[in-house]
Amino acid sequence: MWRATILTLFPEMFPGSLGLSLAGDALKRGVWQLEAIDIRTHGLGKHRSVDDTPAGGGAGMVMRADVLAASLDAALASDDPRPRLLMSPRGKPLTQARVRDLAAGPGAAIICGRFEGVDERLIAARQLEEISVGDYVLSGGEPAALVLLDAAVRLLPGVMGKEESGAEESFENGLLEYPHYTKPRVFEGREIPEILLSGAHGKIAAWREAEARALTEARRPDLLKSPSLRAKRSNPDS
Ligand code: SAH
Repeated sequence: MWRATILTLFPEMFPGSLGLSLAGDALKRGVWQLEAIDIRTHGLGKHRSVDDTPAGGGAGMVMRADVLAASLDAALASDDPRPRLLMSPRGKPLTQARVRDLAAGPGAAIICGRFEGVDERLIAARQLEEISVGDYVLSGGEPAALVLLDAAVRLLPGVMGKEESGAEESFENGLLEYPHYTKPRVFEGREIPEILLSGAHGKIAAWREAEARALTEARRPDLLKSPSLRAKRSNPDS
């Protein structure tokens, strides 16, 4: 079973949105497991303090390495094979490729930062992999962890139906996805593109490919420059 262990100051934020819909059904069916651990359990003193002022001065508070390490070590055996992730705007941007890797593994342990972030020594001492969900700053790592888990859990075997395996989706072949249409045939004077109603599967596939390419060129030319994805595009079976 794929297991997620979350270290957070707000365990009540979990499973949150992941308790509903695809991920929620899968959670109830035991396809994956979620454990949200309150970092404050390992807080110091009467007030269970988890943070302190930044060395060198400056605004805000920093989460203490000793508290976080105690919390992580209590939650995870040292030989636990799951990657130890720290949600962080300084991290490597999360990609569909990394999400696929994570989904194919045993699960993940995820630390959610708060305040100004965590003491750098924790990252080094526990070899945390910093992952970002985008170039903007959240007030805490919890929504970022929910994003990562949502993306990974939907790829677990038995979560999505076969017909929506995800293989054709945005990013999977280095392109954004082609546009979708459904009934009614005419909506406020706008028609479904004729070719999609033609039943000509080859032509439909070619049209979708061309649309995906044009959309990617217009909105995300950076994706077309990514070498690994370019290789994948020219050899889609690899
Ligand atoms: N002072 C930090 C921001 C701290 S935000 C900086 O300037 O880099 C507080 C916490 O929110 C972070 O520790 C991290 O866990 C989380 N967080 C904020 N933005 C994020 C992002 N884009 N991706 C992942 N986690 C993020």
